Amino acid sequence: MLVSAKEMLQKAKAGRYAVGQFNINNLEWTKAILQTAQELNSPVILGVSEGAGKYMCGFKTVADMVKAMIDGLGITVPVALHLDHGTYEGCYRCIEAGFSSIMFDGSHYPIAENVEKTKELVRVCAEKGLSLEAEVGAIGGEEDGVIGMGECADPNECKQIADLGVTMLAAGIGNIHGKYPENWQGLSFETLAAVSEKVGSMPLVLHGGTGIPADQIKKAISLGVSKINVNTECQLAFADATRKYIEAGKDLQGKGFDPRKLLAPGVEAIKATVKEKMELFGSVGKA
Ligand SMILES: [Zn+2]
Repeated sequence: MLVSAKEMLQKAKAGRYAVGQFNINNLEWTKAILQTAQELNSPVILGVSEGAGKYMCGFKTVADMVKAMIDGLGITVPVALHLDHGTYEGCYRCIEAGFSSIMFDGSHYPIAENVEKTKELVRVCAEKGLSLEAEVGAIGGEEDGVIGMGECADPNECKQIADLGVTMLAAGIGNIHGKYPENWQGLSFETLAAVSEKVGSMPLVLHGGTGIPADQIKKAISLGVSKINVNTECQLAFADATRKYIEAGKDLQGKGFDPRKLLAPGVEAIKATVKEKMELFGSVGKA
């Protein structure tokens, strides 16, 4: 069922595990993630960037597809449909379209403006029963044209935003979107511990989950991270499996060109990636 991310994340924080946010790009992606969550009896968050929303013909198409798919597949685990790195305007469009959760990325605004806009969205989301994620300290790498340097958040600013009544908080701790460079310094657990102490029971969000070593993921969860975003890893797995299918000439054998056959190995690869992450994050059996 489609729910806000509030309860699943509060349970995760209390139970010391994390719920995965897996970004979706199309029907196959959505189906693969929902089926895996159901099979593993895990809560799940479907992430949609503004670019992916546009690609899928608008947020309403996405929300209607997800709701119909939950119904059609008989999905009973908690599912949140979440706007990833939303602009202020994008947040309102998703609220209108029927999303159950949104992220307002005000990290590029001066802190006073981030506070002002977040405050307004806290009010609207509370009214409609949606969960709201805020961000402090830009996350490194490139996502939909937004480039961050991977800075570490100021724990006092985190406390300031958390106190506005958001549901969960993304704090930059040296994490990066996309593939991590060779010379990456690793996560700043010092920052994470300081933020965690300031914000108390507020669930923390780790963006850029692709390529962070498993031991660092586990340590981050132990320090209060309850939501981890995975995007690039599913894309790499899908592309790799699809390339192998074509390179093996399978599209030229029989009806191997049928899109339902052509896309099947990629879908299986997404499922395997999601399963591996849910096991690592500890969300299996927690629906
Ligand atoms: Zn992100």
